[in-house]
Amino acid sequence: METLILDSEKGIELGAKLIQAGEVVAFPTETVYGLGGNALDPSCVAKIYAAKGRPADNPLIVHISKVDDIYPLVAEFSESNKRLVERFMPGPLTLLFPKSEIVPDSVTAGLKTVGIRMPKSEIARKFIEACGVPIAAPSANASTRVSPTTAKHVYEDMNGRIPLIIDGGDSEVGIESTVLDLTGEIPTILRPGAITPEMLADVVGSVKTHKGEVISSAPAPGMKYKHYAPTVPMVVAKDMKSLVEDYDKKVAKNMNPLCLIRGQAVQAVGNRRYVNLGNTDAEVCRNIYRVMRDSEKVCDSIICIHLGESGVCKSVMNRVLKASGGKIV
Ligand code: AMP
Ligand code: MG
Repeated sequence: METLILDSEKGIELGAKLIQAGEVVAFPTETVYGLGGNALDPSCVAKIYAAKGRPADNPLIVHISKVDDIYPLVAEFSESNKRLVERFMPGPLTLLFPKSEIVPDSVTAGLKTVGIRMPKSEIARKFIEACGVPIAAPSANASTRVSPTTAKHVYEDMNGRIPLIIDGGDSEVGIESTVLDLTGEIPTILRPGAITPEMLADVVGSVKTHKGEVISSAPAPGMKYKHYAPTVPMVVAKDMKSLVEDYDKKVAKNMNPLCLIRGQAVQAVGNRRYVNLGNTDAEVCRNIYRVMRDSEKVCDSIICIHLGESGVCKSVMNRVLKASGGKIV
């Protein structure tokens, strides 16, 4: 199969036709690129899992283009749900509701809940609207690979496996959505993202936060799988001193390491090989996956500075620690 890459206008037109014919299409969103198919058609959902090589017990998020499209997909909807929807949709937040009967079991990996998101990206929403059906979409990477934030990343993983990639440029947020479970007593974050616990608590009173890296006890299905790993080993350095020491040790062993640092540390890293992730937390978040993908092609090990816990960096560190298997030097 030939995989086309088209700009948004042509891509949306052809993409909607392909979706209506039961095909799978990659499309841009503000978080990462998604691999979309008709969420109400089990045979199309099966194609998504096949294209990614995704385990069948890892559920997909259903994407919509307007608030009213939530109601047919859910069995219950409360007042506090309404406030969350008004505040964060569209945006990088996935809400888990009890699912209605029209949502196939394969979308939710057999769970009784369905994850729903309305992307902020206008291209994404126009595409979903043109399709005329809710769009089930995981990230458009091959299973276990780093999530894609450009059309080229999608092409690297999906060339020959899907008919079309809609190119919408770089993903603005750069990491996957926050996932919030609304089916328990208190809303619970299953996956941290750009919408922080503080932002959510502001609207619903209190939320249970996702607890760092303890993947086994996290109730999010899919979280037990290794995600986000570059193809070369990666470690996190707790500070610049450790980063520099680890780099020099590796060079002494004839290795070819690469440092990922913040803009403020350019002086401290000296003449060692580095990539600047950005100066602000938002820049670091936007760049992290692209830099991980680019880095694995030009070095044999990655040393990433600990990015701290402020704001969105807590969520970025969640991904960086997964990618490094929790290894800190
Ligand atoms: P991806 O789109 O690749 O980021 O994967 C979607 C992720 O959303 C899954 O791996 C789960 O962590 C989460 N998710 C989606 N639907 C559900 C659900 N019904 N229950 C729990 N977690 C979900
Ligand atoms: Mg994913």
